Amino acid sequence: MSAVNLLDFDLDGLTAYCEQLGEKRFRAVQLFRWIHQKGATDFEQMSDLAKSLRAKLQGAAVMERLKVISEHVSSDGTIKWLFDVGGGNAVESVFIPEDDRATLCISSQAGCAVGCRFCSTGHQGFSRNLTTGEIVAQLWHAEHTLRQRFKRDERIISNVVMMGMGEPLQNYNALVPALRTMLDDHGYGLSRRRVTVSTSGVVPMIERLKNDCPVALAVSLHAPNNPLRDELVPLNRKYPIEELLATCRDYLTAAPRDFITFEYCMLDGVNDTDEHARQLIALVRQHKVPCKFNLIPFNPFPQSGLKRSAQPRVLAFAKILADAGIVTTVRKTRGDDIDAACGQLAGEVQDRTRASERMLRQPIVITPVSEPAAAAVVSPSGRKH
Ligand code: SAH
Ligand code: SF4
Repeated sequence: MSAVNLLDFDLDGLTAYCEQLGEKRFRAVQLFRWIHQKGATDFEQMSDLAKSLRAKLQGAAVMERLKVISEHVSSDGTIKWLFDVGGGNAVESVFIPEDDRATLCISSQAGCAVGCRFCSTGHQGFSRNLTTGEIVAQLWHAEHTLRQRFKRDERIISNVVMMGMGEPLQNYNALVPALRTMLDDHGYGLSRRRVTVSTSGVVPMIERLKNDCPVALAVSLHAPNNPLRDELVPLNRKYPIEELLATCRDYLTAAPRDFITFEYCMLDGVNDTDEHARQLIALVRQHKVPCKFNLIPFNPFPQSGLKRSAQPRVLAFAKILADAGIVTTVRKTRGDDIDAACGQLAGEVQDRTRASERMLRQPIVITPVSEPAAAAVVSPSGRKH
């Protein structure tokens, strides 16, 4: 029988597992703290757990780590990890330090079935859902690797965004226990305001998330009308804009923030005219959705046939929204020198794997980074040295 991966459990799941072993809940709490707060990789480290429990766990359970294919550290302190999840699939996480916070961007699937026109993950197609353990292991790896590297005892990652590869709400059953582990005071202790699920608009699952685990919500809008959104985000044909916005409004009754963040990828000549901006204003007013806009400069990739809007166009678009009273930000591009944007690097690896099946035999490490160099680039507070 294969060993149980303890990263697959939120605290209730771990409690149920411990009960099967004849152990009380407080033992599960201890175990959970060792795993997530202290980053223990070995039951022998768990000094306050009864020897008998450690013996039961040994052999029966593991904390399954992800295999690191590569790590890239950008000159701005952004770090991108590429993880091997088996079967020729790779997923990525990106650490983004800023002055007042440090955000980890996490993947939820290998590939994605939604197939958005402008997304390189979407162009790769769908391979498989990640397990809860694989989602949590990305945070576990980043948090504990960086604590060691920066010689810090206290928490490093303050925010998590589910904006890596995949559509988190199409992997709902694995996502929710992972979110609960992030929020749990015995786990990572992140506040609901600091954990964001980003979705292309899976309406029934937004409704379920509202009841099961209402964290901050970002919705990838990308177009102000159905014909254009049908083209850019094919899921729109199933859940059109009116339905999506009504669901967003309803979500706010339970959400930790009093607005929805709309993400809008700026595509030259496609969705970036003054008229599109005016349509957006009319749309959110009509549906009465308190919102902020986050304009994302398109990150081009060869097969897309699309171009990034020029910066003056982005700023003019932002000004129209802002003049209508909508808080609008333009996303800074971070980690440009290491391609730290949605799906980029994993896409490269997939292609190479398909071409030659080389990846598993010969890990691709593009810019290996020594520990001291990484520490010199950025401190945990995000300030550059
Ligand atoms: N599937 C979810 C979350 C992952 S994508 C979603 O679509 O929301 C995270 C964000 O990156 C989304 O807003 C997505 O639209 C955006 N994105 C995808 N490809 C991009 C690209 N090539 N350039 C800029 N943003 C992109
Ligand atoms: Fe999937 Fe999001 Fe990419 Fe669309 S943008 S293909 S939903 S990962």
